[in-house]
Amino acid sequence: MATNSSRTAGRHFLQIPGPTPMPDRILRAMDMPIIDHRGPEFAKLAKRCLEGVKTIFKTANPVIIFPSSGTGAWEAALVNTLSPGDTVLMFETGHFGTLWKNMAVKLGLKPEFIESDWRTGADAKQIEARLREDKENKIKAVCVLHNETSTGCISHPGEIRKAIDAASHPALLMVDTISSLASIDYRHDEWGVDVTVGGAQKGLMLPPGVSFNAVSDKALAAAKNSKSVKSFWGWEEMLNLNRNGFFPYTPATNILYGLAEAIDMLHEEGLDNVFARHDRHAEATRRAVRAWGLEILCKDPKYYSSTITAIMLPEGKDTDAFRKIALEHFDISYGMGLGKVQGKVFRIGHLGDTNDLTILGALAGTEMSLSLAGVPHKKGGIQAAMDYLVAEASQPSRAAAE
Ligand SMILES: *Cc1c(COP(=O)(O)O)cnc(C)c1O
Repeated sequence: MATNSSRTAGRHFLQIPGPTPMPDRILRAMDMPIIDHRGPEFAKLAKRCLEGVKTIFKTANPVIIFPSSGTGAWEAALVNTLSPGDTVLMFETGHFGTLWKNMAVKLGLKPEFIESDWRTGADAKQIEARLREDKENKIKAVCVLHNETSTGCISHPGEIRKAIDAASHPALLMVDTISSLASIDYRHDEWGVDVTVGGAQKGLMLPPGVSFNAVSDKALAAAKNSKSVKSFWGWEEMLNLNRNGFFPYTPATNILYGLAEAIDMLHEEGLDNVFARHDRHAEATRRAVRAWGLEILCKDPKYYSSTITAIMLPEGKDTDAFRKIALEHFDISYGMGLGKVQGKVFRIGHLGDTNDLTILGALAGTEMSLSLAGVPHKKGGIQAAMDYLVAEASQPSRAAAE
């Protein structure tokens, strides 16, 4: 890319872990005149979204759709189910885990924070041990992130549910799936999650602007006793109006057109195929990183994320300088290092509307930028990724599935 030019040709490589590139089909689906959000046409659209989105969370219970970014749905999860002074058990998986904990403090909750080195997911054994000590059931909720976007480490909500049950503890389980929903397999009902928090602009390929709370019966019962102050975020009024396809205030109408389309697209591809595609692109990325001789922040394969890989640069190499060079020369954006790992890692998002060639393009931009930025590395990352993708493509099961 010529730096003295005011136009960049071709598509920008938006490899941040959300917002993710929006498919043209979703853009077109949203290109609609504004309609009356109290009228019959809107109710049809809302019902399509409210029903359809349940299949993405894998729940038979209601899913609430807020016109907000994901952070709003974090707040809604806490203020609908808990009361000021309640203890919540949270896990320091990384920057987003820390932000949710800080929010809990602001809302008058008492988070207990299990610390970690930002290189693994939430450890179910530590959670179980802490719950067993809590003989008086002071802990009202366990909150974890399915995918910690700042580190590229997942947690396993099904295991955490088993840990809570093994300790015979009544705490609610709340899971943030903002950067994993519709990309990594998730099962709200089967895993016994009480509140699942989701967002629009990552795996769902939508513009920022809607967020979700999937709820269990136990969460709805807890909501009846919650004393936290809430108005906009209150579930009750929302659920009452949603029954007929309406909202208590103006919904994000045009994003809902996009949401209905995104749900159709995910089912046309098949959710299992969507998950397998994300697994494949994550593995191709990790193979490239290893070939370059660089280190992946997530240190245990059990916690590898299929939506984002955080890559460490050698001591003395600043990842913000590296990202700047990559953007200037190849028009590619990576996620920056957040919080404790700022300047130490850059993050490749490989989620949403991505295929084998777009991930290879992103990796090629990375390998070239490593050279331009003078980062010591070995060649051959792209070759390693291509070899893996070719091997995967020649498996008969994949050809049959797609
Ligand atoms: C992006 C993200 C958030 C914050 O969502 P916003 O839409 O930016 O408010 C919270 N948690 C995780 C895991 C995220 O990836």
